[in-house]
Amino acid sequence: MATEQGTINVSTENIFPIIKKFLYSDHEIFLRELVSNAVDATQKLRTLAAKGEVSGEIGDTHIEVLLDAEAKTITIRDRGIGMTKDEIKKYINQIAFSGAEEFLEKYKDEASIIGHFGLGFYSSFMVAHTVEIVSKSYRPKTKAAHWACDGSPNFELKDGEKEERGTDIILHVAEDSVEFLEEIRLDTILKKFCKFLPVEIRFKDEQINNTAPAWTKSPSDLSKEDYDAFYKELYPYAQDPLFHIHLNVDFPFNLTGVLYFPKLTNSYEVQKNKIQLYCNQVFVTDSVEEIVPEYLMLLHGVIDSPDIPLNVSRSYLQGDPNVKKINAHISKKVADKLAELYKKDKEDFESKWNDLSVFVKYGMMSDEKFYDRAQKFCLLESMDGSHSTIEDYKEKIKANQTDKNDELILLYTSDPEGQHSFIQTAEEHGYDVLKFNHPMIDAHFVNFIEQKLEKASLRRVDSNTISNLIEKEESLESVMSEDDQTSLKSLFEEAVEGSMANIELKPMSPDELPVIITRNEFMRRMKEMQAMQGMDPAAFPDSYNLVVNTNHKLSQQILENADPDVQHSLIKQLHDLALLSQGMLKGEGLTSFIKRSVDLVGNE
Ligand code: ADP
Repeated sequence: MATEQGTINVSTENIFPIIKKFLYSDHEIFLRELVSNAVDATQKLRTLAAKGEVSGEIGDTHIEVLLDAEAKTITIRDRGIGMTKDEIKKYINQIAFSGAEEFLEKYKDEASIIGHFGLGFYSSFMVAHTVEIVSKSYRPKTKAAHWACDGSPNFELKDGEKEERGTDIILHVAEDSVEFLEEIRLDTILKKFCKFLPVEIRFKDEQINNTAPAWTKSPSDLSKEDYDAFYKELYPYAQDPLFHIHLNVDFPFNLTGVLYFPKLTNSYEVQKNKIQLYCNQVFVTDSVEEIVPEYLMLLHGVIDSPDIPLNVSRSYLQGDPNVKKINAHISKKVADKLAELYKKDKEDFESKWNDLSVFVKYGMMSDEKFYDRAQKFCLLESMDGSHSTIEDYKEKIKANQTDKNDELILLYTSDPEGQHSFIQTAEEHGYDVLKFNHPMIDAHFVNFIEQKLEKASLRRVDSNTISNLIEKEESLESVMSEDDQTSLKSLFEEAVEGSMANIELKPMSPDELPVIITRNEFMRRMKEMQAMQGMDPAAFPDSYNLVVNTNHKLSQQILENADPDVQHSLIKQLHDLALLSQGMLKGEGLTSFIKRSVDLVGNE
């Protein structure tokens, strides 16, 4: 038997240390590379068979991963096209190493480039001290071949002993990689990278993969149940998704995939890094930053594209024109789908709005084109539960909520419970109140949408008195004389001294509350912004306006009371009630309020 010994292309003598070093954090991908090669070899065989170029039946073509912990070997066995000795020379010795040279030349400083440079097979040396190939070509009358290499550039090539067509890659696992001799470890790696490969893969007599995942099929062959079942396969513990988008592009780039809108179980649970990226059904990564726009990362599902340059550094990806095109395409698809769903069944869409809104608002704020498209389906939700698009909403409130400067005023609440009394007052005036109470997004969205709308502002219901929230021409006259107002103001100032209240007197309807607290919209937003940027909130004192209704009968009664002590405790009581209705009465203030209340009741 002729044994050939040789040296793999000397100029690449130092390839192995480089492979080891570069891929240090990612050693487990050796299995992905070897199983992918086995899949390629199997698919090549099937293609040849389909063309009638393989004699006889091709039979079972599954791939096996065999573990022998005692012998410290891992074998990847396929029943694909196989290689002759000459082919091993050509593909393993020469091609792979010319790839290696190119690799060294181009990317001296870049990590994780394996794969695109024909280095896939050599990644086996990350975990093995010696690698053997035993292969038999599908071509009739060829001998089996046996190649062995101990990690130095020296290899040995001779005739092999193998009856069945296909290739065994035998890894003799190195001392520093014995972790890969654990069954559980191999099982986990296989299920991570090989779960959707198109050729059956078995490990320990179990089939690892689903060879025909949803995204590889035609949408017309799949029902909603099929998509939901596939979602479960990807995320076994998640609730059913709201709906899906099947992506299918072949020009100007190749991309398939299924994206899902997840159901958020609570508003805080916005999880990123759920989209999985595949390249021809091989799992690549689930950290898709830079590849998918940030707001799309809130979606779940799979993207499969051979056109995303997956083996280059992330900073490179950002500038890649294909990646940009892919982003733009996905973004458009998502917007189109949302528009279509809204058009088709408004009621259903509205019922899902709560879950969708975070995503849509986030998208509108980060992508100008998405903002434009979202005009068709971005909904504003009113306190009465009705939904309208922004344009429709402007129409709806135009007649009643335009102020004397011809500005449209949109009222909103950030806390329907806490701002209850203000909402009620606004509604009594026939005003509509919008719900902007998402803890993560709405503070930003309010600012954003206000900049976008022309001649319109958004005001939180508690930011001013009802007549100042939307200023109309007619203003109420005060029944109280100027002098009385001055005395009342000083009484209030004395009584609430030491608090953060600015006293303001205002003639309001006698039916409104005697005293209310408002917080200037602008100041409040400033403070919120500061806090979001991590600045000390104490730097901005939490002052507020204490607005006294001069037309309320209690105002007159306080003024007329002869006992200064009673005057003071009545004012304190009203102040506390106003604080209480804003959820601002706490600690010592609350304790003395309760005590005073008991005293007042006792005095009756
Ligand atoms: P790539 O797969 O990127 O081409 P590899 O270094 O992984 O680079 O493999 C080099 C070549 O060796 C492959 O292109 C293929 O021709 C051949 N090869 C590798 N593994 C197998 C296999 N299991 N069966 C048949 N041929 C293989």
